[in-house]
Amino acid sequence: MAAFDVRGPAVHVTILGSGSPLPDPNRAGPATLVHTSAGALLFDCGRGVLMRAGAAGIGVGALRGLWLTHLHSDHVTDLNDLITMRWAMAMAPQPLPITGPVGTADLVRRTEAMLETDIGYRLAHHEDLTWRPDDPVTEVTDGVVFDDAGVRILAAPTDHAPVHPTVGYRIEEGGRAVVIAGDTVPCSGLDALCRDADVLVHTVVRPDLIELIGLPRLLDVLDYHSSVQQAAETAQRNGVATLVLTHLVPAPAPTEADEQPWVDQAAAAFDGTIVVARDLATVTPDERDG
Ligand SMILES: [Zn+2]
Repeated sequence: MAAFDVRGPAVHVTILGSGSPLPDPNRAGPATLVHTSAGALLFDCGRGVLMRAGAAGIGVGALRGLWLTHLHSDHVTDLNDLITMRWAMAMAPQPLPITGPVGTADLVRRTEAMLETDIGYRLAHHEDLTWRPDDPVTEVTDGVVFDDAGVRILAAPTDHAPVHPTVGYRIEEGGRAVVIAGDTVPCSGLDALCRDADVLVHTVVRPDLIELIGLPRLLDVLDYHSSVQQAAETAQRNGVATLVLTHLVPAPAPTEADEQPWVDQAAAAFDGTIVVARDLATVTPDERDG
């Protein structure tokens, strides 16, 4: 076993945003914090990410890095805010390491280009701000993408076709494992990440409700997201302990009554712990024997 007690420092998860592209007063855009001995690791940076991180007690300077699952707008909406605040609030250069699928470097460079006017204003105005934002980007497909302080992150390809490439992540520390699936249908890459994981944070949609609504633009989301049942089957097939349903479409009100049908659908295919994500909810791996 690891040199430290597995119950502390335990890896744990804070849901920063449990929403989707659709603006929702209760749910910020997709973003998840994983707290580890290597620091606070941010996965995706949807609408309102820094507001929610602030509410969770994590300032932009405290982030160890950003990992993107894919480049759909709702998962990267506030990349510009992260880049600007990480740069403009720092007392010394403190680049934010950014990891994501192929295409991430272009997105970051284009976002910096979009910010050029503001960068010029601030460089001209603040005498002690003498450097530009320059965040290093690593593009990944699979394998170990981070290894430090007893914390390891693995990536694997997921299936969000026709959006390509996309990746999921598995964060390991002290015998614990958390998986960030991102947007995907069931696939072998996700299965490999999920094997015996303690916590799986999984994007889900409800086909039964979306078909009732019947809007073509909404119906289109069904073919490249997992239903609640599919996410539950992925969790069950791979021996996951806790399944966190997030990126909920159409989103329930954050009440037990509205969330219960989501739990019931998942429970029909999965016999572990089921959590319907709310913004700022914290999920800690269950105590396990061994
Ligand atoms: Zn997506």
